[in-house]
Amino acid sequence: MMMNEPKTIFKQGCEVAFDEEHWQKINYSTGCLEQNFAKGKVNYRNLDLEKQRAYTLRNKSMLGLEKLLVDFETHFTENGGKVLWARNADDALTMIIDIICKEKANAITRSNSTILDEIELKGFLERKNIRVVETEIGRFVLHMAKQKSYHPLSPSIHLSKEENNAILTENFKLKPDSSIKQMVNFVRHEVAVESQDVPICITGANFLLSDVGGVVLTENEGNILKYTSMAKVHIVVAGIDKMIPNIDDLSVMLPLLSLHSNGQSMASCNTITFGPAKQGNGPEQMYVILLDNNRSELLSHEDQRKVMSCIHCGACVSVCPIYKNIGGYSYGTKYIGPVGTVMTPLIEGLEDYSYLNSACSLCGKCVEICPVKIPLDDLIIENRHLAMTEKKGNAKFDTMLKTMIWHCKSRKKMDSPLFLKKLELKRLLGPLWGERPMPEFASKSFSQQWRERYL
Ligand code: SF4
Repeated sequence: MMMNEPKTIFKQGCEVAFDEEHWQKINYSTGCLEQNFAKGKVNYRNLDLEKQRAYTLRNKSMLGLEKLLVDFETHFTENGGKVLWARNADDALTMIIDIICKEKANAITRSNSTILDEIELKGFLERKNIRVVETEIGRFVLHMAKQKSYHPLSPSIHLSKEENNAILTENFKLKPDSSIKQMVNFVRHEVAVESQDVPICITGANFLLSDVGGVVLTENEGNILKYTSMAKVHIVVAGIDKMIPNIDDLSVMLPLLSLHSNGQSMASCNTITFGPAKQGNGPEQMYVILLDNNRSELLSHEDQRKVMSCIHCGACVSVCPIYKNIGGYSYGTKYIGPVGTVMTPLIEGLEDYSYLNSACSLCGKCVEICPVKIPLDDLIIENRHLAMTEKKGNAKFDTMLKTMIWHCKSRKKMDSPLFLKKLELKRLLGPLWGERPMPEFASKSFSQQWRERYL
């Protein structure tokens, strides 16, 4: 097995994550998010009804996606923007580098967005000697520490105040005992300095509005608004699943997204941009790259396509007991937690990622909290089923199971001497059994015990 196989990363990551201090930090941070949600949800008279509305709306969007996408392209183009269609990550990266070359740029600013991780934008641009400036505070610190995002909404959730301080002190002239406010102000200043004269800003999108050709961006730090306004070119990379039919639908979707992200009634800064600026501040050019990356294939799965309703609030990640134990790096995937566990094998391939099927205890906490009522636990079970029936799961495990059934069905085999049974089952099949210890055989077989007691 290659050392960098996703399954190996998962196994090694889990071993590293089993650390008391790590557990405390991650449980404290996710616990705070859960408390925020509990406080925020009292603002709803009937949260379940609102979730039902969101569920219906997202389902409707996914079923009518073809028309919504075409309408979005028409309206966004009318607004002066350009829509580019990317089949996969390579297509998207080629489109981005073409725009960068056309603008003769040597640096870009970027927002905190998982889809930019999905296409591995940062590594790609750095290999092309394009400087990448992280504008989100957590991401900026992670960039300094050469670390990746740990949580979709709070990328540096695993770092304590002291660790943040140590990273900044090591890289800049910052006092070792700086307060959180001092660190935030310092990073803001550094980002502003590093972003001067950077002509291109690349972001994701929270929603795409089909009826008006709008791009919705929601955040708390205000960096997206600031750096897209300062840039000459704004490039949006969005999955085709980001589409919603109507601007009015935001009255349901935005408050639910904010509540489930971190307990707010509304995020501090919500921007709808309809294309390049007609006058005043704002980009002269705007591109939306619509990324498929196997999403249309996913649409053809009647059950599994439900995961495409996800609005990436991160709530299921924050409540997941598996995430709380193994952390964000162990998954070895760009989308993590329950939604990543469902999505990744379907987008990236069941063969390489079916190990994720075991990263779930089926406790149902993710289903309970999901604002768009995605039955994540059912979808994980369905993924397990797919992995077994399509033979894209663990073929060795399959063989083991069949051998075991054959063995257990034979009375003669079960009555064979203990050492033989051990040899056959434990030594031959043991290595395929996985991480758990194999159960021990009783010292006497059932027939032997029966004979001794009753005959
Ligand atoms: S699956 Fe539901 S809870 Fe999880 S990120 Fe998506 S919308 Fe949020």
